[in-house]
Amino acid sequence: MMVPKKPADSRQKRRTERAMCRKSDASGNPVFPRTNSDRRFFSVRMGKTRNRKIIAAAALILSAGTMSCEKRQREPESREALGTVCSVNLYESGTESKYGKIFARLDEIDALFNLSSPASDISRVNAARGAPVEVAPDFIKVLSEALEIARVTEGAFNPALGSVTELWRNAKIHTDRIPSKTEIRNALAHADFRKIRLDEQAGTVCMGDAEAKLDLNAIAKGFAADSIAEILAQGNVKGATVNLGGHIYVFGTKKDRSPWKLGIKNPNAPEGIPAVSISGLQDTAVVTSGIYDGFFTNGSGDKNAGGVFFHHIIDPATGFPADNGILSMTVVCRNAAAADALGTAFFVMGKEKSFAMMGEGAFDPVAGGRPLAVSITNDARISASRGLEGYIGVVLNDYTISFR
Ligand code: ADP
Ligand code: MG
Repeated sequence: MMVPKKPADSRQKRRTERAMCRKSDASGNPVFPRTNSDRRFFSVRMGKTRNRKIIAAAALILSAGTMSCEKRQREPESREALGTVCSVNLYESGTESKYGKIFARLDEIDALFNLSSPASDISRVNAARGAPVEVAPDFIKVLSEALEIARVTEGAFNPALGSVTELWRNAKIHTDRIPSKTEIRNALAHADFRKIRLDEQAGTVCMGDAEAKLDLNAIAKGFAADSIAEILAQGNVKGATVNLGGHIYVFGTKKDRSPWKLGIKNPNAPEGIPAVSISGLQDTAVVTSGIYDGFFTNGSGDKNAGGVFFHHIIDPATGFPADNGILSMTVVCRNAAAADALGTAFFVMGKEKSFAMMGEGAFDPVAGGRPLAVSITNDARISASRGLEGYIGVVLNDYTISFR
């Protein structure tokens, strides 16, 4: 019987893998050749060149260090969902069916929260002009957690901010036309999350204001990470990293049973060396909201001609991008949905108020464990929760750090 020849690129790939496996330490663990890019840290190994770019654009997962020579069934996977690039690495536990299950779940979640798809649950709620709309149980779950965090943060995180954020999303597409103060004021008049009615029995959501719109972008990726963590917990996975456009979840431990280490981007040069690292991470979300997802405008949209910078985290008190010196706010919390929403809330609340609130332990009931945070401000200061002392390393000397 004829055995079909393996394609040349697959033979080449196996040769490369064998070559990489040749070196090993005393316990048989592979030792990898040092290159410029891994001199300082290992970044997550990605399958394709395109994926390398993707990981560089997201927050960095450092010292993954588990490139395996064992029979790994699949490369890590990256696909677009939730308006961003979602990357999952199951390392040696990876199988086609596990990846398939995870990305099918991400598509399911995307179908609920995608503001650009008219068929999504969120778009149907927003089109209903205040009438009750039947939604999926997952949607109810996320919205009730969102409302809880909105209450605790006194609306700094506001899921009813949709008519305001829509103005800014349009501005980002057409940078020559930023929303006027009147437009913002009119939209803000329809952004009261307290009017939202959730009927868990009937499975319906009602905005309670014909002009109000939901925006759950600041919590949906966190919920997605929690959902993936549930799948991983059922799937006999020892260690995995999930990166949903910079929203990271680290599951279990690395192959050598040590905890994970992540880098937080330098908000002034997000594609460069990270500003700080956090080690000792296990089964937790690390979510950063940063100003770098923004845009310039000056009428012609030219940032080199005195353009004004706008970013995408809106202060619900003003309707304009939060302007309190925070460049990035990172939240570490076991509950990824809470980490996501709190990151946005703390960004809006500013350094003093958010660290004070964390100190009071106000978030325990919603966060499933106390959240810890790291802020980077425009005075080159890093502030971090005391609980992270001993786990944080300042990578860039430009910054000074203090704990609170
Ligand atoms: P990203 O989703 O880009 O990672 P965030 O989690 O901070 O960053 O979410 C920001 C998004 O959430 C914005 O693009 C907008 O759609 C929405 N948003 C902006 N400001 C707020 C706010 N104060 N409360 C709730 N949602 C917000
Ligand atoms: Mg968020």
